Amino acid sequence: MNKISQPKKERILIIEDEEEIASLIQYNLEREGYRVTVVSDGNDAPSAFREQRPDLALLDLMLPGLSGLDICRIVKSDSDTKAIPVIMLTAKGEESDIVAGLELGADDYITKPFSPRILIARVRACLRRAKGVESDDSKIMTFDNLTLHAGKHIALVDNEPLDLTVTEFRILHLLARKPGWVLTRYQIVDSVHGENHPVTDRSVDVQIVSLRRKLGSAGALIQTVRGVGYRFSG
Ligand code: CA
Repeated sequence: MNKISQPKKERILIIEDEEEIASLIQYNLEREGYRVTVVSDGNDAPSAFREQRPDLALLDLMLPGLSGLDICRIVKSDSDTKAIPVIMLTAKGEESDIVAGLELGADDYITKPFSPRILIARVRACLRRAKGVESDDSKIMTFDNLTLHAGKHIALVDNEPLDLTVTEFRILHLLARKPGWVLTRYQIVDSVHGENHPVTDRSVDVQIVSLRRKLGSAGALIQTVRGVGYRFSG
C-alpha cells in the first residue's frame, strides 16, 4: 500500500523579536501545515529572504538591528526577493509606518494583537494572490449589487449603469481587483494617473466621496482605513 503523500505546504518566514508572538504565530501556521522559520534580529532578515526564498514573510516593524521598513526596502528592491509577499505585523498607532511599508511594496499588514484565525485567513489570501489568481480585464466582477465590466469601463448597481468619470472607474476597478487589501492614497494616484502625477492625497479623497455617492447603496463597499487609505470590502 502506498502512503498518500501530502503536497508540500508553503514556506513562511517570520521576522519577529518578541518570542511569545513568534512562537504563537509559528504554532498556528505549523498546525495548518506550513513550514516555518523564525528570525529575531533585523540584521539577519535580508539574508534569510535570499537564502530561504520563502513563499511569504511576516515582518514585524520594530526590530533590533534593521527595522521592518529597512528590510522591506531592501527585499523589495532586490530582483531576487521582491516577488516574495510581505505581510507587516504592526502595532496600533503605526499608521504612518504602515503607509510607508505599503508604498515600499509590502502586500498587507496585520495589527497586533490579532487572532490566529485572522492571521491564517490573511496568509492564505496573500498566498493565493501571489499565485496570480487576479481577475483579468475581460472578466465580469460582481459584488453584492455591483457589477463591473472592466474592459468596457461599465459599472452597474442593481443593473443600472453608473455615470462614472474615467478616473472614478479606474479607482473603483483598482480597489475591486484586490478585495480586502488596503491601498494608500499614493498607490491609488500612482496606478490611476501614472508615476509622478501631481495629484494630492486630498484629491483622492474627493474622488472617493464622489464615487461613493454615485455608487449609492453599493458605496459602502469602499471602506476608509483611517490614517492609511482605502479598502474594498467585497
Ligand atoms: Ca518587535
